[in-house]
Amino acid sequence: MTAYDPKLGLYIAGEWVTGGARDAHDVLNPATGEAQGALPLANADDLDRALEAADRGFKAWRKTDPAERAQVLIRTAALLRERAEHLARIATMEQGKPLVEAKGEAMFAAALLEFHAGEAQRIYGRVLPRPAGTRSLVLQQPIGPVAAFCAWNFPIMNVVRKLGPAIAAGCSIIIKPSEETAGSAVEVLRCFQDAGLPGDVAQCVFGVPDQVSRHLLASPITRKLSFTGSVPVGKHLAKLAAETMMKTTMELGGHGPVLVFDDCDLDKTLDTLVAHKFRNAGQVCIAPTRFHVQAGIYDRFAEGFAERTKRLKVGSGLEKDTQMGPMANARRPSAIEEMVEDARSVGARVLAGGTRGEGDGFFFTPTVLADVPLEARAMNDEPFGPLALLTPFETVEDAIHQANRLPYGLAAYCFTENGRRQNLLGDEIEAGMVAINNVRLSWPDSPFGGVKDSGFGSEDGPEGVAAHMVTKTVHMM
Ligand code: NAD
Repeated sequence: MTAYDPKLGLYIAGEWVTGGARDAHDVLNPATGEAQGALPLANADDLDRALEAADRGFKAWRKTDPAERAQVLIRTAALLRERAEHLARIATMEQGKPLVEAKGEAMFAAALLEFHAGEAQRIYGRVLPRPAGTRSLVLQQPIGPVAAFCAWNFPIMNVVRKLGPAIAAGCSIIIKPSEETAGSAVEVLRCFQDAGLPGDVAQCVFGVPDQVSRHLLASPITRKLSFTGSVPVGKHLAKLAAETMMKTTMELGGHGPVLVFDDCDLDKTLDTLVAHKFRNAGQVCIAPTRFHVQAGIYDRFAEGFAERTKRLKVGSGLEKDTQMGPMANARRPSAIEEMVEDARSVGARVLAGGTRGEGDGFFFTPTVLADVPLEARAMNDEPFGPLALLTPFETVEDAIHQANRLPYGLAAYCFTENGRRQNLLGDEIEAGMVAINNVRLSWPDSPFGGVKDSGFGSEDGPEGVAAHMVTKTVHMM
């Protein structure tokens, strides 16, 4: 049997805290439903110690040479690459995704850190034009200790996406990753530790999410909130952050529209979209969700989509030929099952899947629903699962109206060979990220984030580090 072997614990002031008289959380294997590790949960004293460490860490780290910060990030990236197989196995065993996806995630996380290492050395200010002998300076300074919370869907990358830019900027950070995927986060923190990151700069805690976030956000030590997760939790945390006028980066959910026009390369489009839809069992904030297909090719698209979906090999992420693993936790198959039943009851047709998988794991079959009415719940709430919703449209105006219909605005996808239309779609779609004739939206140098209910601010790109800085002016007359 493959071993699940991370040493689960809290990381505070450079020390690992395991066990003690703390409550514990069972980390489950989503492919079997079995408990495989006990995670200690932070108490109020632990959180206070983490805050004190972050306060100390910031005071020292902000003064370091940016080149030194860059070196720590580059060494951490090298360790992530070196340990990618090990990290991937842990991520698969606690989150469910196929090993090949988990390994790709670790490699992408390394590339993110390499990019941020460069950004650490490109934090420029400005000198304003003034009479000789006088100066006005515009300085960029790190904002202070960051409280970061992130979800379980990319257990390696989500953690790195929070730590990388904060550390590059000269901030300290307290991160609370998901308790459900704690082992991946712990192993990521070990890479930072082994790369020489001073102990007080990054702390990692787990606990009862609402208690931890209230505690950290109420402290005057915390100066920034960075959150990746659902819209309702994001709105709740943004309200808490407003109490202390904290800067925020909110990477929330989406409901990705896909506009497929009748002049696209249909087979290529279908191959690309089916693979992208069911990546990570659909548990991706930028997942393509609503497929609006032009009427002339709708039937062919639906048939091709269903046929490719039925061929997907579902199983444990540890098995070599698995293309889609289980969902990450028991809540997800229940949520998808309810959405499918609701859509059926208002007239949607099931072209593929639609049922839970067999066994004790959290499996759901890759599902395609056609002719889904707008009133179906899945057409309005984020499914966050292996559910593709198909519906026809007639004109480009109709398609843009559908794309912009919901309060979400994260990712959107368009497939058309018409250049004038590509420009129009790029201009008119209300989303933080639009992909045309492809599905890649996440690159180290490209800002990642949403608009409307999908959030505020960007991660990655130069914007990721900039989001951890404050602007100060100094006038010397
Ligand atoms: P959830 O909203 O309960 O939890 C999402 C994450 O936020 C978890 O990791 C959890 O630990 C954390 N969280 C929850 N309450 C918190 C609080 N009060 N303070 C701090 N952190 C808190 O949802 P879930 O059932 O785990 O996941 C389903 C939903 O989450 C989906 O509908 C999807 O919208 C969303 N989600 C989004 C992303 C993303 O990348 N944007 C990732 C994962 C989940």
